[in-house]
Amino acid sequence: MRIRGSMKYRVVLVRVSNALSKSSISGLDYALNPYIGCLHSCIYCYARDFVRYREVSDHWGKVVFVKKNLVDLLKYEVIVKKPGIVGVGTITDAYQPIEAVYKITRESLQVLLDKGFYVSIQTKNPLVIRDVDILLKYIDRVDVGFTITTLDKDVASRIEPNAPPPKARVNALYKLSSKGISTWIFIGPIIPKINDDFNTIKEIINIAKNTNSTVYVDQLHIKKFMYRSSNEIIKYSIESIKKYRWTSLFNRIRRYCREQGVKCIIIPNEYRKYKSWQEKLDKYF
Ligand code: SF4
Repeated sequence: MRIRGSMKYRVVLVRVSNALSKSSISGLDYALNPYIGCLHSCIYCYARDFVRYREVSDHWGKVVFVKKNLVDLLKYEVIVKKPGIVGVGTITDAYQPIEAVYKITRESLQVLLDKGFYVSIQTKNPLVIRDVDILLKYIDRVDVGFTITTLDKDVASRIEPNAPPPKARVNALYKLSSKGISTWIFIGPIIPKINDDFNTIKEIINIAKNTNSTVYVDQLHIKKFMYRSSNEIIKYSIESIKKYRWTSLFNRIRRYCREQGVKCIIIPNEYRKYKSWQEKLDKYF
């Protein structure tokens, strides 16, 4: 099978033993990840270090396992588990291109929301727009975050080669926000000298202002797989990150957000990402 351009990829259907897993992310009760591996193939993707299957981690972005029995399992789990907040796509993007074929994320949303769960989606893919009918039906129990690392399509193609370009993500964000869906932007990871241009970050914050989105910011974190990487950006980052003046950049971002009236959470320092969700949840559980 092929996606963008001539890139070939392999799809493997697998059976799993559970749909929802306990989330270790602050503020999330559960995580739901319909796919193992991600065809967006971002060069910095941390998921490589979490995935148990060598075929997927060694060929990141070229092999994806599809959890074919996930929805059936989920239908049972939503009956026996206590409703809570479900992070959708916490490890791999639940709206990566293969979702257009298998629709496991769509069916999962329906099952979760029907049973009173709260769903928080993070993606780089405008495919989420396809599911706007479901999101609108349960508008008080959903939020959607777009990862926007840069607005420059050339930079994006170097670090996120098969993900939709920034403009497509921005357009999708505007679309969802204009329908009243709660949205947020994740600016991260910031990689020194690659996507740390402050004017671009300001533009992204302006988009957050226009869409009433909260902004989350994170720096690149060095992971084990990066030491084996032959990617020039990653090799350079391992060295440059040590002497980078993060505090100075984060202070500028915080100041600009304050001036614009945008809620901004710098993840390494203020990991309160889901506090507002907790407030919303008090209404439901
Ligand atoms: S979209 Fe997310 S999960 Fe997919 S490769 Fe990029 S960082 Fe990894």
